[in-house]
Amino acid sequence: LIRGLEALRDLPCETTDHHRVSMLVNTGLMTDVLRSLTHGAEGIGLYRTEVPFMIKDRFPSEQEQREYYREQLEAFAPNPVTMRTLDIGGDKCLTYFPIQEENPFLGWRGIRVTLDHPEIFQLQVRAMMKASEGLNNLQIMLPMISNISEVEESLHLIYRVYHEVRKDGYNIHMPKVGVLIEVPAAVYQIRELADRVDFLSVGTNDLTQYLLAVDRNNPRVAPLYHSYHPAVLQALVRIAQDAHAVGKPVGVCGELAGDPGGAVLLMAMGYDSLSMNAASLPKVKSVIRSVSLEWATNLLADILLLDSPHVIKSCVDLALRNAG
Ligand code: PEP
Ligand code: MG
Repeated sequence: LIRGLEALRDLPCETTDHHRVSMLVNTGLMTDVLRSLTHGAEGIGLYRTEVPFMIKDRFPSEQEQREYYREQLEAFAPNPVTMRTLDIGGDKCLTYFPIQEENPFLGWRGIRVTLDHPEIFQLQVRAMMKASEGLNNLQIMLPMISNISEVEESLHLIYRVYHEVRKDGYNIHMPKVGVLIEVPAAVYQIRELADRVDFLSVGTNDLTQYLLAVDRNNPRVAPLYHSYHPAVLQALVRIAQDAHAVGKPVGVCGELAGDPGGAVLLMAMGYDSLSMNAASLPKVKSVIRSVSLEWATNLLADILLLDSPHVIKSCVDLALRNAG
């Protein structure tokens, strides 16, 4: 098994008709990084920075954050490491920064928190930039964007920190900045968002929750939570088309990218990269290497005509089984 994984690690993630997709990993702790290296990740598509914040009993200092970020950046240099700015609120809480709300998923979450606390945002971005000195593989990603003004405000803060850090003598490049597409409002503003940033990445976990109005953690409504829902799939098709229409790369970093059937459909939609948990990398890569883009495109066209998430899932599973 290990030898098989190693052989797979060094093979490109491409279809039998030579269509390539970047295989990236989602990380939080260093253990994710180490496992993904043996599984052939080509970079980090989503580093959830709130994870190191969650295991502390106070906000980590700039120096502490710099150390966490440096480890992630070094492990993958020169390949890109995409760091999401702090995404707390919703289901992710810090004991030392309690947020009490009736509707946490519709409340003070992600970019909404950090734009209200620019000192937290700027300290984090400063630590990221200083950590990237000499590596220059840092990319910054903004969570929970639902208004263009949030992107503009964030970019303004990021540029400001960049100039300060340069003035302090750090020899760094301006990192690429991207936006997470995970709120339905963002789906209808892809061109406006893409015009302002370097890349987009779809968070299918939240996008599914918000499009279907189904709490992603509530077991009572779990049967209604389905990323193969036709509305989610139509949104995903549209996002990829609109991002490419303005020439910007777009990836997926939600769980759907780590599901073999989901990965095949996303590839057929034209997504440039798939970012997933370390454990999913080998199976997704081996599925993509076993099919052609043409086959996947036909499968996508067929399932887009269907109206039930369960039927769509069964069709995709069956097609993959028949494809061997
Ligand atoms: C998502 O929402 O799909 C995502 C990638 O982010 P998280 O699961 O951390 O909210
Ligand atoms: Mg999310």
